[in-house]
Amino acid sequence: MYSLAAVLSAPLTATEVADVVLSDGVAATGASAGMVAWMEPDRLHLRLVGSMGYPPEAVQRWERIAANAPLPVGTAIQSLAPVFIESPAALFEQYPAARTPASPISGAWAVIPLVLNGDALGAITFGFDASRSFFEADRSFVVTLAHLCVQALERARLYESARAAQVAAEASRSRFAFLAEASAVLAGTLNERAVFDALVGLAIPRLADWMTLWVSSADGQLLAPVLAHVDAELEEPLRALQNSFYADRGPDAGALSVLRSGKSIFYPSIPEAMLESALGAEVSARFRKVGMNGALSVALMARGKILGVLTLASARADRVFTPDDLTLAEDLGRRVALAIDQARTHQREQVARQRAEQAADLTLRLQGVTAALSEAATPLQVAQAVLAQAVEALGAIDGAVWELRKGDDALEVVHSVNYSPAAVQAFRRVPLQAAIPIADAARTRTPIWLASRADYQARYPEAKALTEDPPRDYRVGCLPLVAGGGVIGAVTLTFAGGQPFGAEDRDFLTALAFHCAHALERSRLFREAEEAVAVRDEFLSIASHELKTPLAALKLHIELALMTENPTLAEKGIAKLRKADRQIGRLNDLIEEMLDLSRIRTGKLRLVLESLDLVQIAHAVVDDFKAAALSAGTAIHFEADPEINGQWDRIRLEQILTNLLSNGLKYGKGNPVRLAIHVRGEEVEITTTDEGIGIHPRDLERIFLPFQRAASVRHLGGLGLGLYICRQVVEAMGGKISVESKENRGSCFRIVLPRQSPSRR
Ligand code: ADP
Repeated sequence: MYSLAAVLSAPLTATEVADVVLSDGVAATGASAGMVAWMEPDRLHLRLVGSMGYPPEAVQRWERIAANAPLPVGTAIQSLAPVFIESPAALFEQYPAARTPASPISGAWAVIPLVLNGDALGAITFGFDASRSFFEADRSFVVTLAHLCVQALERARLYESARAAQVAAEASRSRFAFLAEASAVLAGTLNERAVFDALVGLAIPRLADWMTLWVSSADGQLLAPVLAHVDAELEEPLRALQNSFYADRGPDAGALSVLRSGKSIFYPSIPEAMLESALGAEVSARFRKVGMNGALSVALMARGKILGVLTLASARADRVFTPDDLTLAEDLGRRVALAIDQARTHQREQVARQRAEQAADLTLRLQGVTAALSEAATPLQVAQAVLAQAVEALGAIDGAVWELRKGDDALEVVHSVNYSPAAVQAFRRVPLQAAIPIADAARTRTPIWLASRADYQARYPEAKALTEDPPRDYRVGCLPLVAGGGVIGAVTLTFAGGQPFGAEDRDFLTALAFHCAHALERSRLFREAEEAVAVRDEFLSIASHELKTPLAALKLHIELALMTENPTLAEKGIAKLRKADRQIGRLNDLIEEMLDLSRIRTGKLRLVLESLDLVQIAHAVVDDFKAAALSAGTAIHFEADPEINGQWDRIRLEQILTNLLSNGLKYGKGNPVRLAIHVRGEEVEITTTDEGIGIHPRDLERIFLPFQRAASVRHLGGLGLGLYICRQVVEAMGGKISVESKENRGSCFRIVLPRQSPSRR
């Protein structure tokens, strides 16, 4: 008994305790058999923990019995007291229910309840071969044995539950660690593909032998499933199986039903018979091939939306899914859904950023176009600028700009790039009615977008290739150029690659056409203005030549009249003739100015260069002015170096000095006018200074342009050509003219001339 107590104090399992108690108890009591039963948690049944000496059919019969069965064990449990039956006759008398075909297998029985703290936890039964009496010593021995047994069993139970708790804690710790790892791995994924890869890495083989993941795209389309199997060779059969399964049963069958319901599906184990009756022999055989011992499907839910469904499956008998596995899968599903959601947000942000960058880039390119166009003055320059930009910034492979002139019914090429010589020739003039896209665009005032060579040929079967060496496939955009309410031309651009124009490309090309149209319109107006100016200049040139001839004759007559002694001509008459002669001189000067203008315009201003002393020339001019100045009561002060030699045009120098001095007198309000001429190194500086009306700052540049006058025409006459001609002449001699002036304080004109004139125009 003491050795038994020592053995039982060691940590044993319930079965071990039962074994020890039975083997020791049977030997010590002289019993032939024994069994230990333990109360189930429901306290309504007893379950066999261990048995000894009974035939298997008896063991099977006693496997599980009701705790209140009308048997000795029932009485022992109910009364909490041992029951001793000394013979089969006594047994059958007291317990008629014990009479079964198998019984009796013993001659006497001792049944002792296993009682702890007033509770029956089970019972121990000893069976004896023959009928016998139980004396007090026998009874107290088995009761003590039962007492030791119950304590050991209780310890075993506690020990086992502690172990179970430890196992559970271990499992939950590992689940927690798994989820922590899943969170960390998934957090690092920036796109959906990476999320899927991470999920496969996490789930296979740790959670399942194979998995499928069905995900709906952002716009609700079900995407091809992500599949993985521990046995890579089974992935293809698995994919084929999935495809045919859903093709046969519809998109709402099996795991996909979770997409709608959001409710998990859980099959901890799937017996073969069940699989076969549910799917039929052929499909179930295919499932068995990839392995289908158990499966669970959980929804991927993020922000209240079901993004997909994850299925985990077991392909081996020893992987049996538990409710904990389902919880774990649901947790994992939530994390995967969140990662997919984040990846999509990230992707959307990236797309948005890319769009913004593209827009900024296009804006920049458009700025490039407008900058290039702002410098283009003629239609040709406009066309060149637009096509250069289209080739450089957009990668166009060829293109052309056409112009439609007012009243014309055909487009004319202004400029083209990369067209074959034959195409240039053929499309120099394109009637608006022609069945080609450029004419169509101009006629209908709508852009024509041709996505590919095939599209082009289908829509314009008569059109010929324009490009010298067209790439395999291309797309063409033809846009009308609309400005001032009408079509003024069209532009066509070809790009490599047969694909439809994107919305951004269309927008950009439309903007390009818009800018092109306005630049073209501007250049047309400029051209018209230039043409008008040319007409005017031609008129002026003809008019001044025509005026010069009668004027020369008139001057000759007056000079002759003054030269010949004419007694009939009184003093007064002579004075009048002199006056007329001066007016003719003035008229001649004006006509000369007009002639100079047309010479400059037509590039016929010729310089006759010779070695001259500028100071000497200036003295002569000043002397000519002295009389006029004296009569106007104005003084002219002249200072100069003694002699300044250089290569200049005599007549033009006189013209410049005359012009500046006469302006000084004209606008000088009667104050003295100063002329100074000095050598400055290789150059000579001529300045005229007056103290007259001065010039407003806004007019300082303008007065050097033709016909520009800052002063009142009525009071101070002139054509506004003098300074323009001066500047042309000065520049022709390689010099510069400038002015400094303050209103009502006076002006100072400065001319700097090289002494050796470099230019010969
Ligand atoms: P015009 O004297 O025939 O008008 P110019 O070309 O010589 O033509 O001069 C252009 C304009 O420049 C003049 O109309 C006048 O307004 C201004 N200007 C020229 N010289 C002077 C000056 N010395 N002081 C003030 N204004 C001047």
